[in-house]
Amino acid sequence: MSNLFSIKDRVVIITGGCGVLGTSMANHLASEGAKVVILDRNAKLGNELVDSMIAKGYDALFLETDVLNKEILEQNKLNIMQKYGRIDVLINAAGGNMPGATIAPDKTIFDLQIDAFKKVVDLNLFGTVLPTMVIAEPMVNSKKGCIINISSESALRPLTRVAGYGAAKAAVSNFTKYMAGELATKFGPGLRVNAIAPGFFITEQNRDLLLNPDGSYTDRSKTILAHTPFNRFGEPEELLGTLQWLVSDASAFVTGVVIPVDGGFDAFSI
Ligand code: NAD
Repeated sequence: MSNLFSIKDRVVIITGGCGVLGTSMANHLASEGAKVVILDRNAKLGNELVDSMIAKGYDALFLETDVLNKEILEQNKLNIMQKYGRIDVLINAAGGNMPGATIAPDKTIFDLQIDAFKKVVDLNLFGTVLPTMVIAEPMVNSKKGCIINISSESALRPLTRVAGYGAAKAAVSNFTKYMAGELATKFGPGLRVNAIAPGFFITEQNRDLLLNPDGSYTDRSKTILAHTPFNRFGEPEELLGTLQWLVSDASAFVTGVVIPVDGGFDAFSI
């Protein structure tokens, strides 16, 4: 049974791999024998991360990118193909909310900063669509591969204050299903596209919403926890089992699904 979940020697690309969730995914997949390429705009963190992974004996490579720049992504793809000769998995994890796109508690939708809303949609939606268009090409050529998008709980149930982020992630979930059909019907069933919708994990992109400067929970955090049957935030490692299942052949007949990993938030009302 354990072979079913094997990801040994798979060439895995992770956009946003320097983030809190991406770093945890990168280390885990590399520890399971995958060859992991981190694509991120933060070169300092990326080089440090890859150095630490290589020191652990992992096969890892960092390439600076901007998920919104097709030319840079094309260059990234060339570099990956030169080094590894193929791409097996793409994880689109670059994304997140932005402070300017959050509607303050005393404001309404009529105060929305439309430029910030557009930026958040750009990063989360186009930052998934563009890498998919570029990086999926070698998978399509070999008729085998899988894409994992990182959607969000906010795609499943609109959350107050983060209208742009929720709209963008809802579009990511929809695009996941679209691509599942597109790739399998046009290029064969060896190509799968799925998504994970994480619930609430305290990371850089949401720290200001969830924690006060002294580290205590904000009122928003308390409301989230009251709506979470597990009554706690998630730990990045709690995404890894679902990720490995989706990346490996254990999910060979699974495509077009968005899996919530959220301590029950999505299932619960009162
Ligand atoms: P994070 O802010 O820690 O990491 C995001 C990473 O993306 C950073 O390393 C950043 O440098 C990179 N990035 C941002 N813009 C980029 C660009 N234009 N090009 C290349 N890289 C870029 O965030 P995280 O919490 O680890 O989030 C990872 C993913 O999970 C995101 O898509 C996020 O929306 C999603 N998510 C997070 C949560 C949560 O609770 N933290 C919940 C649901 C979904």
